[in-house]
Order: sequence, then C-alpha cells, then structure tokens
Amino acid sequence: MSNVLVLVDHSAGKVRKTTAELLTIARRLGEPVAVFIGGNDGGSVSDALPALGQYGATKVIALSSPELSQFLVAPKAEALQQVAAKVEPSAILISSNAEGKEIAARLAVKLESGLITDAVDVQEGPVTTQSVFAGNYTVKSKVTHGTPIITVKPNAATPEAAETSPEVEEFEVSISDTAKTARITESKPREATGRPELTEAAIIVSGGRGTGGDFGPVEAFADSLGAAVGASRAAVDSGWYPHAYQVGQTGKTVSPQLYVAAGISGAIQHRAGMQTSKTIVAVNKDPEAPIFELVDFGVVGDLHKVLPTATEEVTKRKA
Ligand SMILES: Cc1cc2nc3c(=O)[nH]c(=O)nc-3n(C[C@H](O)[C@H](O)[C@H](O)COP(=O)(O)OP(=O)(O)OC[C@H]3O[C@@H](n4cnc5c(N)ncnc54)[C@H](O)[C@@H]3O)c2cc1C
Repeated sequence: MSNVLVLVDHSAGKVRKTTAELLTIARRLGEPVAVFIGGNDGGSVSDALPALGQYGATKVIALSSPELSQFLVAPKAEALQQVAAKVEPSAILISSNAEGKEIAARLAVKLESGLITDAVDVQEGPVTTQSVFAGNYTVKSKVTHGTPIITVKPNAATPEAAETSPEVEEFEVSISDTAKTARITESKPREATGRPELTEAAIIVSGGRGTGGDFGPVEAFADSLGAAVGASRAAVDSGWYPHAYQVGQTGKTVSPQLYVAAGISGAIQHRAGMQTSKTIVAVNKDPEAPIFELVDFGVVGDLHKVLPTATEEVTKRKA
C-alpha cells in the first residue's frame, strides 16, 4: 500500500482535531505516515504520539532541526521536500490554515506537483471536493502531475479512531540559506479564553453587528453552553471582536453540531463559513433577515433580551 504523508498540525505537541481528520482521510488513500515538526512553542513527538496512533498513523517521522522553528515557513517546505524524496508518497495532506497553505504552495513548486487547496472532502483517487463561490458551487478535481498535494479544510471528515503503534523515525533535515531569510523574532500564544477552539467546537455562538459592539451576552450564552464564540465580519471590522474569530468566506469555516447566530443578517459570505453546521439557530430582531431562510430554529427578538434569558435557563437546567 502506498504511503500518504500527513503534516501534523499541533500546538506544543497537542495534536489538533484537524490532524485526526487528515489521518482519517489518509487511510482512505493508503498508509498514513505522520510528519511531526516541533514548533517554537515546544512540544515533542512523544506528546503527539498517542493521538497519532489513535487515528491510524503507521509511522511518525520526527524532523529534528532547530532551524525549523526559528524561521517562517520556508524551512518547513524544504524539510517536507526531503521527506517526500525519501518516502515517495502517493499524496501529501496538509491542514488548510494560513501556514499549511503556504507550506503546500512552496512544496508544490519544489516537487513540481499539482496542488489543491481548501478541499472539503478527499476520496480515493485522490479526488477532492472544493466548495467555491461562497458555497454556491461544488468542484471535484484531481491532481494530474506529480505528487498530489492537498490542503484540507477543518471538519472535512469525522475523525475515526483506528489504533496503531507507530514507530518514530528521527529524520535529519538540512536547511538552505535561502530558506532562512525570514527569522521569527518573537512569538506569543494568544491569550487563552478558556473556550474551545473555534474550528473544533461542537457548539458556536456568534455575534454580528446586531450586538452593537457588546459581546457580553454572546460570551455569557456561549459559556453557559461550553461553546466557542464567533463573529461576523461586520463585528470584526468594527473592532468589536478579534479577527481570529471571524466566521465566513474570508474567516474560519466551521461545522459544529449547533451554530447560534445572534444579530447576524446571514450574508452569503457569512453563510459560506457556517452553512454546513448540523443545527442552526438565529436570534434576530428582523423577521425578514435572510438568516431565517437557513435556520432550523429562529427567534425573532432583541438579542440583548433573548440571550440573557436563554443563558439563565441553560444555567438553571444545568444546576
Ligand atoms: C469579499 C467579501 C468577503 C466577506 N467575508 C465575510 C466573512 O468571512 N464573514 C462575514 O461574516 N462576512 C463577510 N463579508 C461581509 C458580508 O457581506 C456582510 O457584510 C456581513 O456578514 C454582515 O455582518 P452582520 O450580519 O453582522 O451585519 P448586518 O448585515 O448589518 O446584520 C446585522 C443584523 O443584526 C440584526 N440586529 C440588529 N440589532 C439587533 C438586536 N438588538 N437583536 C437582534 N438582531 C439585531 C439586524 O436585523 C441585522 O439582520 C464579506 C464581504 C465580502 C464582499
């Protein structure tokens, strides 16, 4: 069976859900071989190993070179090129985040291979599915030259466990001077909110322009449900909530079990990031708001009244 390389997406050795999704997809295509690059936030391959084994990695290649964490993405692309030369994989899967896409693009140039980004599904072939033009078109495609390099969006697959005991192979990489032209001078983790990661959360409560800039009721309701907080671009552009929490075409794509949109009109660009949520609930004071075309449940009302009432009720029922 052919090897499929999966670049491990992790934070300080803690494997992200996206990696479990990539490993699940990789098993459809061949034998998943995980590539672990230690970050400048620490974390070693031994921290990641249990999760990689849980989702079926048959082998873990640990790249050791301090240069991989001292510079921006170019050394990582070079390192993957060297791993690919040795492993000769039938495909390479990378998470569709900003860093992953840049690594994938650089790698595609180096390997003279085709690249597909933002896949929402990957099946045998590998044949990928992309959702384009704000979710209005679904495109199926296949790399026709070189090693298929595919970046996969979060929630493209449901992680399925398949216990393995992967061996770890330390792999020495050599990084060229040209890859070392952008050095990291400082790196600080975002302040922990105590809430789940937006792209991984089972429940998300998002606020829009209708919050009027006060995300207090949105956060309180999210906390009562153990949910992540999201925001529309209007809210983010107004400086009411950090950009990292924007949901939509130019923000994060989410697919939780429950998505609550409060004070969000339901513009097509917002929908593009959340319309695959399993259950959608909207709170909007305008009964004609387009978001109501999409929802499973809708509440017509002022979010500053509806959300605190809902928070109180959830808290009471949990007690
Ligand atoms: C290229 C491009 C990319 C874009 N990418 C994104 C993206 O990634 N994500 C995104 O979200 N947008 C994106 N947008 C912007 C998008 O078109 C909309 O402008 C934006 O989503 C609107 O945000 P909103 O729903 O919060 O604001 P509005 O459209 O102004 O809607 C606010 C809603 O709040 C309701 N409301 C007001 N007060 C209350 C209250 N007290 N209680 C309850 N409801 C209330 C109103 O009835 C209204 O429906 C993009 C636009 C472009 C052109």
